[in-house]
Amino acid sequence: MAIKTIGVVGAGIMGSGIAQVSAAAGLSVVMVDVNAAAIERGIGSIASSLDRLVKKEKLTAEQKETTLARIRGATDLADLKAVDFVIEAATENEALKIKILKDVAEMTGADTILATNTSSISITRLAAASGRPDRFIGMHFFNPVPVLPLVEVIRGLQTSDDTYNKVMALARQLGKDPITAKNSPGFVVNRILVPMINEAVFVLQEGLATAQEIDDGMKLGANHSIGPLALADLIGLDTLLAVMETLYEGFNEAKYRPAPLLREMVDAGYLGRKNGRGFFTYG
Ligand code: NAD
Repeated sequence: MAIKTIGVVGAGIMGSGIAQVSAAAGLSVVMVDVNAAAIERGIGSIASSLDRLVKKEKLTAEQKETTLARIRGATDLADLKAVDFVIEAATENEALKIKILKDVAEMTGADTILATNTSSISITRLAAASGRPDRFIGMHFFNPVPVLPLVEVIRGLQTSDDTYNKVMALARQLGKDPITAKNSPGFVVNRILVPMINEAVFVLQEGLATAQEIDDGMKLGANHSIGPLALADLIGLDTLLAVMETLYEGFNEAKYRPAPLLREMVDAGYLGRKNGRGFFTYG
């Protein structure tokens, strides 16, 4: 059976992006967050993102309204009862995700596939905790979701072929180019990308160059379209720290040690773009 309705848990940076591309592809979306203000912000950011597409003439004003009308916000997981597929995109915290996934499994029909957008946590472990490991998978989108074409599809040890095939088809239906990755801390892209960003924080911490110079260096010398510290701010410093911690614990290797300055920034409440201050400041 094709997936027609989708539940998204978490209305933050990623949840709202996933809701937007799903609605744009014609699916009905229920976006759930514990925080009503986060839903309002999420829907607001989807509206602005669609407005930008209208301005660039990639979308008509009517298509924008139709897309927005397909998204419903909710604060109760019980609203996911009738959806065909649920993707969890809440805060990067394993205990929190396990609680959500157990609750979602209880609320939804036995055929509903559950996915997680985790950046680094073991899919096999989350699958086992969900109680429906064969109908569970990692579906890892990239930020900003409406712009970046990649989705990493990660099978847990018990993910069925049927679940995998349906999720690969869904990724393509959303206009994405999926790659398949094995379950391992950070999967493929974050295993490479996040330690690079962490190293940029060490370079800043050691006073080797300013944040701007580090970013200019990587843009001008390595042909990156965005500097590592601006990228850190875009991802969210709390999310980045959580990913480094998962890599460090998962591999038990010193090379994945989170930069102390990254931890210090998160402790200070500097989370990046999402709250206006990270390695750079935002209006
Ligand atoms: P975010 O901080 O922007 O949003 C997280 C949202 O989860 C918040 O709105 C919060 O209220 C909500 N939440 C917390 N507890 C909840 C609960 N019990 N039920 C429902 N909602 C709850 O974070 P984000 O950047 O959107 O990240 C979400 C997930 O996506 C994380 O697992 C992260 O690792 C992953 N991810 C992030 C990026 C990125 O660049 N930021 C990229 C790929 C994957």
